[in-house]
Amino acid sequence: MNRPLPALQPLPDAERRHVAVVGAGLVGLCSALWLQRMGHRVTIIDPAPPLGNESYRQACSYGNACTFAPHGVVPVAMPGVIWRVPGMLLNPLGPLAIVWRYLPQLAPWLSAFLASSTKAEVERIAATLATLLSHADAAWQPLVTQAGAERLKRHGGCLYLYKTEAQFRAADAEYALRERHGVAMQRLSRADIQSMEPNLAPLYHRGVLFGDAYVFSSPRQLAFGLAQALVSGGGEFIRGEVSAIEPRDDGIGLRIADKAILADHAVVAAGAHSRKLAAAAGDRVLLDTERGYHVLFPQAGNLLSRPVCYPEHGFYMVPMADGLRAAGTVELGGLAAPLNPRRTAMIREGVRKLLPSAGESSDEWLGFRPSMPDSLPVIGSSRCSSHVTYAFGHGHLGLTLAALTGYLVSQLVAGQRPVIDLTPLRPDRF
Ligand SMILES: Cc1cc2nc3c(=O)[nH]c(=O)nc-3n(C[C@H](O)[C@H](O)[C@H](O)COP(=O)(O)OP(=O)(O)OC[C@H]3O[C@@H](n4cnc5c(N)ncnc54)[C@H](O)[C@@H]3O)c2cc1C
Repeated sequence: MNRPLPALQPLPDAERRHVAVVGAGLVGLCSALWLQRMGHRVTIIDPAPPLGNESYRQACSYGNACTFAPHGVVPVAMPGVIWRVPGMLLNPLGPLAIVWRYLPQLAPWLSAFLASSTKAEVERIAATLATLLSHADAAWQPLVTQAGAERLKRHGGCLYLYKTEAQFRAADAEYALRERHGVAMQRLSRADIQSMEPNLAPLYHRGVLFGDAYVFSSPRQLAFGLAQALVSGGGEFIRGEVSAIEPRDDGIGLRIADKAILADHAVVAAGAHSRKLAAAAGDRVLLDTERGYHVLFPQAGNLLSRPVCYPEHGFYMVPMADGLRAAGTVELGGLAAPLNPRRTAMIREGVRKLLPSAGESSDEWLGFRPSMPDSLPVIGSSRCSSHVTYAFGHGHLGLTLAALTGYLVSQLVAGQRPVIDLTPLRPDRF
């Protein structure tokens, strides 16, 4: 379902502020652009923003599966997930794994994650996600145009495939949930799949096409385009890491290495690193990370016509500007542990079976999804200061929801009533 959004009007001069946005991932960039469109002066602070020759690899927004995914109403913690936890602990190479030595730190998050998996909670969460997703495309459109990124969009939907009837039937509850929330989808036979994606090995029995999904063929180029648009509109970037956010009588102080800047308002959009910044401002948020990986197959960019996902394997195979990116899987293990080469090997071997002509792989990447236990983002004000706004925790849907988040952030900063009820997204809900 694709719902419009009311146009945001530029504010009168007296209501325009200096807003500092911490983090130049897609969420920070989109927030900055929507704030700028309302007339604010915007400064983004990031140690490695998408400008010049920066690789941008530190951002989760760099390495994702490139997919605008309006079908994403199904939370990660579905009923029955509790029975999968022992398997996750025992098999570090499954699509959903836990690094066991991180378990003590993860315990509060994991306990809230399991509590979110009841039928009633899943219904509530899915309804909230469906409302957000229904406005997501409308929020992207003006920013895509402003960033000159229309050329990156590739329409063709997204395919989920199942190898057996039993696997397909096991997903019935998820499809019923999607149907209840108006997700456009078409069930496919084996012959349909073969005609749509002839290069796949015939390891499929049934599938589903989500027709409204599309790809940004390079999330990196998307981010660079958004950053350029911001600079063209008078926005400023500061390279550096914010170590503290201090609400003061005369504004909000932000410490960056040995200097400090003062702004009227701060937006914290530092992805998976936002927890410690919120703590510095005086707020406790139950944010952790779902680590995800990608492997690039540079010669395989033309083998598929759309993202293809076997939920059994837990990753998407996506035709993109640089080749075919196989991206996904979840590893609960915090921010400190390095890339686990056994997990990228698992993705590599999976692709070779599913898409035998994929060829050699090159780039391997680990990124940190900023994840809340209930698969919902945080969009809301700090309890300590109404001049600090939080925008993080988008989990598996950050590319999809970044622009809408920016739109909502700009309404919050202007003191307007957000077009969507943000109560389920409040920072202190856990
Ligand atoms: C494998 C994988 C596949 C995915 N696929 C999809 C998909 O297909 N569709 C989808 O919608 N989503 C997808 N996602 C999720 C999506 O990529 C993330 O939700 C999204 O990128 C989060 O964006 P962000 O701006 O919040 O964080 P990030 O992109 O991580 O940006 C945070 C920024 O904050 C900066 N920062 C950190 N600390 C500080 C500090 N102290 N001071 C200043 N700056 C700081 C960092 O340098 C970084 O640039 C996927 C994620 C993964 C890992």
